[in-house]
Amino acid sequence: MVAEGGQPTKQSVFVVKFLADAMLGRLMTWLRLLGYDTAWADDLADSQIARLARSEGRIVLTRDTQFARRKGLPIVLFHEQTLAGELQELRQSVTLPPADLFSRCPVCNATLQLLTRETAKPLVPPYVWQTQTTFRRCPHCGRVYWAGTHRQHVLAFLREIGWPLAKNTPPVGTD
Ligand SMILES: [Zn+2]
Repeated sequence: MVAEGGQPTKQSVFVVKFLADAMLGRLMTWLRLLGYDTAWADDLADSQIARLARSEGRIVLTRDTQFARRKGLPIVLFHEQTLAGELQELRQSVTLPPADLFSRCPVCNATLQLLTRETAKPLVPPYVWQTQTTFRRCPHCGRVYWAGTHRQHVLAFLREIGWPLAKNTPPVGTD
């Protein structure tokens, strides 16, 4: 996509995709919540991780100093132990394009699909259906998501650590 005037839009310039190693499961879940395509290298041997990263153009996220010495692969080596620290390290290493918050299934990384209210009705508790307007379903695992307290906690945490959120992100409490 090219914006008027022939300038490529920021979003079209680069897409980042990640491959998190087995030690970084928590960070993986959060990157998915943030909207970044993040595969998990759980159970994969180093050679398989390298191959997958190369074939899918993914940045490897790892705690393994040995692995991080590999040449010719984009790799971010993590030292921090807290989630806030890990996110900070990521931002220092990678220029992150804007992403669509809560657009991916945190469990399987698939892009969520918007449901009509009628389709969502039998899939969610009655109170949730009455009080929420937007529902999304994961095409892979079938989980249905809506704006609930969990989402508020996620937003509160991101604001607390100064994560750059889009201007239209709803304030905590009204979501
Ligand atoms: Zn899913």
